[in-house]
Amino acid sequence: MFNLVIFGPPGAGKGTQSEKIINKYKLVHLSTGDMFRAHISNETELGRKVKEMLADGRLVPDSITIDMLEEEVKKNPEAKGFIFDGFPRTVPQAEALDAFLETKGCGIDLVLQLDVDQEVIKHRIAERQKVSGRADDDAVKLLKRIDEYFDKTIHVLPYYKEQGKVTTINGVGRIEDIFDKISGAIDEKY
Ligand code: ADP
Repeated sequence: MFNLVIFGPPGAGKGTQSEKIINKYKLVHLSTGDMFRAHISNETELGRKVKEMLADGRLVPDSITIDMLEEEVKKNPEAKGFIFDGFPRTVPQAEALDAFLETKGCGIDLVLQLDVDQEVIKHRIAERQKVSGRADDDAVKLLKRIDEYFDKTIHVLPYYKEQGKVTTINGVGRIEDIFDKISGAIDEKY
């Protein structure tokens, strides 16, 4: 098993780079944001519960998020490994993920931090909204998501740094160049 966390603020390019990583390394991509959006469009009970939170840019409570993520991992018993994208977003989620993976006899092998400054993020998301139509991409909701990131999610980084697992990649530049740096970091540990 090779398990990777891709970490960074909204708009850092986690989804874009995850696509390239799964193609090259054949890992299973688990994006909690994509899972929530699928629940919302399928109008499941969970989708109804989280719809407003997502629209407002607020984090979904840990227990709901952790249960959903663990279910998805269990649906992929044949996986060679996972890319966790958008998860963990809080320290309790990171602790829960470690405990869960331990029961499977594995753990997180690498945390890739995509480093992108706030001005670049705001610009990218404004551009993305023109095509994505995501309700949480508007300027006010985006500020809420950035707040949540600096209030809660950023603390996940020292948690993994203490474990010596973090590699920081400059997330500004050509998509291919960023991916080359990511591949280098994965190959060192793979
Ligand atoms: P981003 O573009 O900000 O990386 P995502 O697609 O990862 O967006 O997530 C969209 C929204 O889904 C978040 O703003 C939040 O409401 C919810 N969400 C996703 N992952 C988590 C998580 N791990 N914990 C709590 N809420 C989450």
